[in-house]
Amino acid sequence: METHKVIIVGPSAVGKTSLLNRFVHNEFALKYKLTIGVDFLTKMVEYEPSKSIKLHIWDIGGQERFKFLHRSFYEGASGALLVFDLSRQKTFSGMKTWLSEMRSIMKNGIPKVIIGNKSDLIPEIGHIIDRDALEQYAKDEDCIYIETSAKTGENVEKAFLELTQLIVKKTR
Ligand code: GDP
Ligand code: MG
Repeated sequence: METHKVIIVGPSAVGKTSLLNRFVHNEFALKYKLTIGVDFLTKMVEYEPSKSIKLHIWDIGGQERFKFLHRSFYEGASGALLVFDLSRQKTFSGMKTWLSEMRSIMKNGIPKVIIGNKSDLIPEIGHIIDRDALEQYAKDEDCIYIETSAKTGENVEKAFLELTQLIVKKTR
């Protein structure tokens, strides 16, 4: 079975582990223990009818702050999900830092999806980051932009599916 490594990165507490748990186990919990070390989960994705590949999805867990570990984390990745929290403005610039670090370390670009997570909070707090600006940023960076909620499950499958389709397209 064709297998690809996918990494999920972004600042702390934006919902990376929650997105993985929603996608792989269809579960959501209000409290996740801090992942110690790098954790990974495996899931088959049907990227077109009766065609599947296996994703090894690596969650950087509680190691976001340890920059010296990032390089080995990126190694061999075929695609990346870059996550920020729609309810916390500063996580957007944190995510941008990840993107530029990734570009400087990985010589060959890989498909990337930028995820604005916690979209379930928007009805309460509104769009604190301008939606058009977000879409323009993603476009300029040649990334797909998707708003998700690990809590409700909205667009979670879609984010992983779109990334998988980009990976398949690139490797064919
Ligand atoms: P990580 O540090 O990026 O892995 O973030 P976690 O997955 O541990 O989530 C951090 C906190 O945000 C937890 O309390 C989660 O329950 C919460 N959370 C994660 N995703 C969502 C979401 O889509 N909506 C809401 N409302 N809370 C979320
Ligand atoms: Mg985590």
